Amino acid sequence: MGGPMRFNSKANLDSSRTRDVGGGGRTGGGSIGLPHVAGGGGVVGVIIAIIYVIIQMQGGGSGGGGLGQAINGSAFTTNSVGLSGSSGSTFDYGTCETGEDANRSDECALVAVENSLTDYWSKQPQVSGHFQPEQAIDVFHGSVQTNGCGNATTDVGPFYCSDDQTIYLDTAFYDTIFKQLGGDATPFVRAYVIAHEYGHHIQDLLGTMGKVRTQQGPDSDSVRLELQADCYAGMWAAAATTVPDSDGNVLIEDLTQQDINHAIGAAKEVGDDYIQQRMGGRVNPEQWTHGSSAEREHWFQTGMNAHDDIKACDTFSARKLG
Ligand SMILES: [Zn+2]
Repeated sequence: MGGPMRFNSKANLDSSRTRDVGGGGRTGGGSIGLPHVAGGGGVVGVIIAIIYVIIQMQGGGSGGGGLGQAINGSAFTTNSVGLSGSSGSTFDYGTCETGEDANRSDECALVAVENSLTDYWSKQPQVSGHFQPEQAIDVFHGSVQTNGCGNATTDVGPFYCSDDQTIYLDTAFYDTIFKQLGGDATPFVRAYVIAHEYGHHIQDLLGTMGKVRTQQGPDSDSVRLELQADCYAGMWAAAATTVPDSDGNVLIEDLTQQDINHAIGAAKEVGDDYIQQRMGGRVNPEQWTHGSSAEREHWFQTGMNAHDDIKACDTFSARKLG
């Protein structure tokens, strides 16, 4: 809404994989723990995994220690309006039918971006043989009980769960934590966030997640996995205005340099060093899980310059990540 990114008003949308699952059934109980990569499964790809830890250290949380409490009791948790998805706050994504709808509503823009990502990756030569779309994008409010990765709240940011192949997103994240970091959630910034999570789905399809052995540190596999997801997001961003949908229509018809710049800015704003600084902490690379601002920008741009060659995004073989 209101952004320069424009969708082809005549294009048809497929809303079958995007759904509003409402507010979480329960907010207490077990947490998902550290949302890093755990072997071949579990929760991966929280775009800003360390934020809630730092917020907790800053006293923004409800006190006490432990990640569980940070997740369940942070001041940044949005109020869930109603329970179990039965409240009036849920959005019917089935009403998103055309690009015109996507131009008018942020919710339908999410559907359009998902469609464009699916169109792009299903035809990507190095992926198409393995391709299947993600199970769903589950939009939740406040908290969610995932099918494969336990409970989560808004605080953890958008994430991908490989055990149920679903992207989880509370759009309130953009107005709370992302804003805290100085981010401006323009429509294409939101698209970048989804493209990053979709990148984790592609990694899941390609078996890349099994490569992850080390979870923290500047050269860790976790950082390499995250930077690769940024690179994949860049690949899609470069192609977004040319990918045809199943009807032969290009879904995203207008994307400005400013859109791209905002997405690059967002990649920086979720850099581990930036977040550590912004939250008043010491920059400690040993705690990095996602990579520095410079690295995230570098790999997003590497993806944009990859000319659809996924090998350009081989962060696992890269000697230098920045
Ligand atoms: Zn990620």
